Amino acid sequence: MSTIGPQSATTEKSHQHGDEVRYEFFKVIQDYLDQAAKVINLEPWVGQLLAQPKNEIIVHFPVRMDSGEIRVFKGYRIQHNNVMGPFKGGIRFHESVSLDDLKALAAMMTWKCALMRIPYGGGKGGIKFNPREVSRAELQRITRRFTHALGSNIGPEYDIPAPDVGTNGQIMAWFMDTYMNTVGHVEKQAVKGIVTGKPVTSGGTLGREKATGQGLVHCIVEWAKDNKFDIEGATYTVQGFGNVGSHASVLLAKLGASCIAVGDHSGYLYNPEGFNAHKLQDWVAAKGSIAGYPGGKSITREEFFSTKADMFLPCALENQVGEIEAGLLDVKLIGEGANGPLNPEGERLCLAKGISILPDVLANSGGVTVSYYEWVQNKRSESWTLEEVDQRLEAAMKRAYREVVTFAREKGTSLRVAAYGLALQRIEAVYREREIFP
Ligand code: NAD
Repeated sequence: MSTIGPQSATTEKSHQHGDEVRYEFFKVIQDYLDQAAKVINLEPWVGQLLAQPKNEIIVHFPVRMDSGEIRVFKGYRIQHNNVMGPFKGGIRFHESVSLDDLKALAAMMTWKCALMRIPYGGGKGGIKFNPREVSRAELQRITRRFTHALGSNIGPEYDIPAPDVGTNGQIMAWFMDTYMNTVGHVEKQAVKGIVTGKPVTSGGTLGREKATGQGLVHCIVEWAKDNKFDIEGATYTVQGFGNVGSHASVLLAKLGASCIAVGDHSGYLYNPEGFNAHKLQDWVAAKGSIAGYPGGKSITREEFFSTKADMFLPCALENQVGEIEAGLLDVKLIGEGANGPLNPEGERLCLAKGISILPDVLANSGGVTVSYYEWVQNKRSESWTLEEVDQRLEAAMKRAYREVVTFAREKGTSLRVAAYGLALQRIEAVYREREIFP
C-alpha cells in the first residue's frame, strides 16, 4: 500500500534501494531536455553535450568542530555549461544533497540563464549536512574550508556561487571574504563578484533577497491577467517558508491574496482566516521554522496538500508532488518557487486535472536575474537603487513570461517544455556559430 511520505513523493520510475525509494532528479531533467529537443529539432551533438555537465567537482575537506574533533566533509560543485558565460548557481547545505540532484539543478541553471537572456551558464554546488545541527562558528568554518577547497575551480569570471537551500547572505559574506583572502592584496577588491546574494553592506544589491519571490509573483500577476483571475481575495498554500516562500507570501499579501496553509521541514499549519506573512516571516527569522507559530492549527502533510485554495506555491525542495499529492491538490495554479517540486507523474496528473503550472525555470528565475545585476554592479563599482533593480526585474520577468506563453501556444507544448525549448534554441544558436575547438 502506498502512503504519503513525510518528506517527498515517490515515483514509479524510481529505483528501489532496500526499503528506500530513490528519485532520479537528473534523469527527470534529461527527459524534459529530450522532449524540448524534439520540439525544436535540436542539433543532436548539442543535445548530447547538454545532457551531461561539463565538470563534476568533488572535494573533501577537514573542519574542526567546537568539541575539538575534526570532521571531514564532502562538497560538490557541478559546472553544467558555460558557453553563454560563467557557470552560475547556488550552494545548498542540506542533509539530502547528492551528486545526482546537483547535476539536475546545475542543468536547470543553464536553461534559466539562457531563458532570461543573462550571460551566464549553469552550475550548482553544496555540502551534504544539516546546517541546523552545527553552531554558527562551525557553520562559518565549514563555509570557509569549502571555499578554500574549491580554490581555483571557482572565480568571478568563471564560476559564481549564490545562496540556495540552507545558505543565505551571511554564508555568502564568509564565502567572499575567504576567497578574497586567497587571491592576494592587489586583487582583493576586484573579486567581490565571486558570489552573489551577499548582504548589501558587503557588496550585495538591494532587491536580491526578495528577488526569487518577487519574480514568482510577477509571473503569477501575468498569468492572472491572461486567465481573468483576481489575485485580490485569492487564497493560496505555500510549502517552504524560507527565502523564496516567505518573500513570495509577503508580496502576495500586498496584492490582497491570503495564505491559508503553510509548511516547512518542521510541519504544516492551517489558518482559514489567512496568516500574516510579515509576522510569520519574522517568526521564522527568529525561531528557524514555523513551528509553534501562534495563530495556526497544526495539520498533517496530507491535510496540507488537500487544502482547497486558488494557488499552491511549492517553495521547498524537489520531488514534493507525486501522484498522491497531485491527486489531493485542489487549486487552479501551481507557481514553482522551488526547483523541480513536481515529479513527472505529479505534473501529468495536475495538468490532466486542469491545473496551470508556472514552471521553475521561468517562475523562480528572478533570483539569478538579480544576482546578475549584483555582479554587474560589482564589476562597475556601482550601487543601483531598489527602484532600478525592481523595474529591471519586472521587465525581464514579464518578457520571459510572454515569450514562454507564446512559444507554448505556437508549438502546442506545456509551459515547461516551452521554457526549455526557448533556452535550448538560444544555446544551440551559439554552438552553431562557434562550433567546437579545435
Ligand atoms: P531556504 O533554505 O531559505 O528555505 C527552504 C524552505 O524549505 C524552508 O522553509 C525549509 O524549512 C523548507 N523545507 C526543507 N525541507 C523540507 C521538507 N522536507 N518538507 C517541507 N519543507 C521543507 O531555501 P530557498 O532559498 O527559499 O530555496 C527554496 C527552493 O527555491 C529550492 O528549491 C531552491 O533551489 C529554489 N530557489 C531558490 C532561489 C533563491 O534565490 N534562494 C532561487 C531559485 C530557486
